[in-house]
Amino acid sequence: MTDIVTDGTESPPFPALPARLARLKDVALNLRWSWHAETAALFRRLDERVWEESYHNPVLTLQWIGRDRLEAAATDPDFLAHLDRVTADLDAYLAGGGTWFDAVHGGEGLGLVAYFSMEFGLTECLPIYSGGLGVLAGDHLKSASDLGVPLVGVGLFYRRGYFRQLLDDAGWQRDADEDNDPERLPMEPARRPDGTPLTVELAFPGRPVAARVWRLRVGRVDLYLLDTDVDGNAPEDRAITARLYGGDVETRIRQEIVLGIGGHRALEALGLAPAVCHMNEGHAAFLSLERARRLMERTGLPFAEARAAAAPGLVFTTHTPVAAGHDYFPPDLMERYLGDYAGTLGLSPRDLLALGRRNPDDAGEWFCQTILALRMAGRSNGVSRLHGAVSRRMWRDLWPGLPEDEVPIGYVTNGVHLPTWRAAGLAGPAAPDGELWAARERGRAALIRFTRDRLRAQGLRHGLSERAAAEVGGRLDPAALTIGFARRFATYKRATLLLRDPARLARLLNDPARPVQVIFAGKAHPRDEGGKALIRQIVELSRQEAFGGRLVFLEGYDMAVARALVQGADVWLNNPQRPYEASGTSGMKAAANGALNVSTLDGWWVEAWEEDADDDAGAIGWAIGRGEQFEDPEQGARVEAEALYELLEREVAPAFYERGAGGVPPRWIARMRASIERIPPVFNTDRMVREYTERFYLG
Ligand SMILES: *Cc1c(COP(=O)(O)O)cnc(C)c1O
Repeated sequence: MTDIVTDGTESPPFPALPARLARLKDVALNLRWSWHAETAALFRRLDERVWEESYHNPVLTLQWIGRDRLEAAATDPDFLAHLDRVTADLDAYLAGGGTWFDAVHGGEGLGLVAYFSMEFGLTECLPIYSGGLGVLAGDHLKSASDLGVPLVGVGLFYRRGYFRQLLDDAGWQRDADEDNDPERLPMEPARRPDGTPLTVELAFPGRPVAARVWRLRVGRVDLYLLDTDVDGNAPEDRAITARLYGGDVETRIRQEIVLGIGGHRALEALGLAPAVCHMNEGHAAFLSLERARRLMERTGLPFAEARAAAAPGLVFTTHTPVAAGHDYFPPDLMERYLGDYAGTLGLSPRDLLALGRRNPDDAGEWFCQTILALRMAGRSNGVSRLHGAVSRRMWRDLWPGLPEDEVPIGYVTNGVHLPTWRAAGLAGPAAPDGELWAARERGRAALIRFTRDRLRAQGLRHGLSERAAAEVGGRLDPAALTIGFARRFATYKRATLLLRDPARLARLLNDPARPVQVIFAGKAHPRDEGGKALIRQIVELSRQEAFGGRLVFLEGYDMAVARALVQGADVWLNNPQRPYEASGTSGMKAAANGALNVSTLDGWWVEAWEEDADDDAGAIGWAIGRGEQFEDPEQGARVEAEALYELLEREVAPAFYERGAGGVPPRWIARMRASIERIPPVFNTDRMVREYTERFYLG
């Protein structure tokens, strides 16, 4: 028998490991495996089936595989060599040295940056995100880690997650809870400097509410998640952090108090004193009040001066021009929850409310978190050039007398964390045509396998026979031009634009010489009946004979489904109604994997496309329309659907199927090469975090 290392100091019981495997614990507890393929491969190597069933969760994998397998691994020279490589790599990574930040800004004395977000999308086994906003936050942490930027994340831990998407037999989305069990996830209790587990307390109307704090390691970056599911809280308070975007407006204000005020207190209790706090979306805006309050306590300054002094350390990023994406709280709710708190700022409840009102004198106006954040932060930005301009127009009333182009809202265009999203072993843009194409064919084949497996499981769940369940995916063609469309089903994203003329679509998909197939995925918010109707429409169509095996809908959109799709699709379709897509990031992930974007000129695509406008030979993809904005959304959809069909019929499918030597499509490859050369080097989160660091955190 090998010696057993037990670790009594850890509250979640970590499985006992043979001594030679002791370092597996450090490797499992650092989420770097979520973007370091060789580390993930170590857990896959332990047991491929368990790794898949745990949904790529190393802690659960270690808990499930059993003692015998661990003992065997502890004497397997190949496994041990793999473990030693991965451990040495992690140690070297964590030791830092040679990072961009150290090399370029190490001497400038930037204190700590705290990045607050309601959601973080880091990996599929930790479903505490809903969509692009959360994935962007996760990618932000990963790039900050890679670049060596001194940053911590702050968020909430949702025991029930966002929701797990299951469709009923008629294609309606049904929502099931996730079960995020802290004992089965790569997280530990955060501890005070004296070693005791940290809890913070908040004054809620008539009662205190406690939140415990979890610590997750994301490379060099720590992420702290607050969780009110603790003994001593009333049942309804334990449920505050149960679900992301789950409750009513009162749940929302409670969550945002925990995030903004509780999150800031948690950092202080940990002995961390952030120099800069970055509010990722308005959800975290209450932290700006807590910053001012703490400054008042320390310096005795009145609120107005404390507010001015706090502003340079506050950064705010707004993420959407869609009205429903901004939090508004009714005045009585604000008074109930923050009336006393206003007193600690030396403000009347009315003064506090004025900070979140377009018209401070309008006693009926609801309190808006975006307005509070814009008023408090020293620097604010949108997430693409176009969105910066749209945001200046949207919020110009807050700066009466300033011309619109001087409204202090700039932009930092979003990006994606390339090591997370790019397939391992992808050919670079300098590779010969044959190699680029071979990589494309491999990527598509892997997506078709993934889609078939998922469709089979979906079919079985819906009561199909084994044979019928296998048949749907069996009709997908690994050689056919494959279009991917996957994102939240917010209505402005117009998931069904391609379905407007079903007969024309059927002809396009079933062209015997140039077949096309479309894979859809995405979740609608549980209260968005319009979005759910779009999903149902796609599912219905997919069941008609003319679309069988050519148009499919994958349930349970999440980061794993997103990865398979962006790595496998030939074309990434993005057709939001301009100007509502603030940036969009899924197309950046697809481009990093060699897909070509077909997109309306909205969000990030405006910038990528304009760079390219006068270079026809090496065009990077296709634009639907010319960036028109339509007063009448119905007219816009009609015109842009027509433009989309035209593009697919006359340009996209012909370019894909026109083959040269070795079966390689020359015009397609030229675009692929241009896209891989120009998009990922710019539209990535390393560039984005460098911009935030130099212009906002240090500036
Ligand atoms: C990247 C990503 C998104 C964002 O998609 P958009 O097309 O930019 O809206 C949403 N959800 C998941 C799971 C993602 O990975």
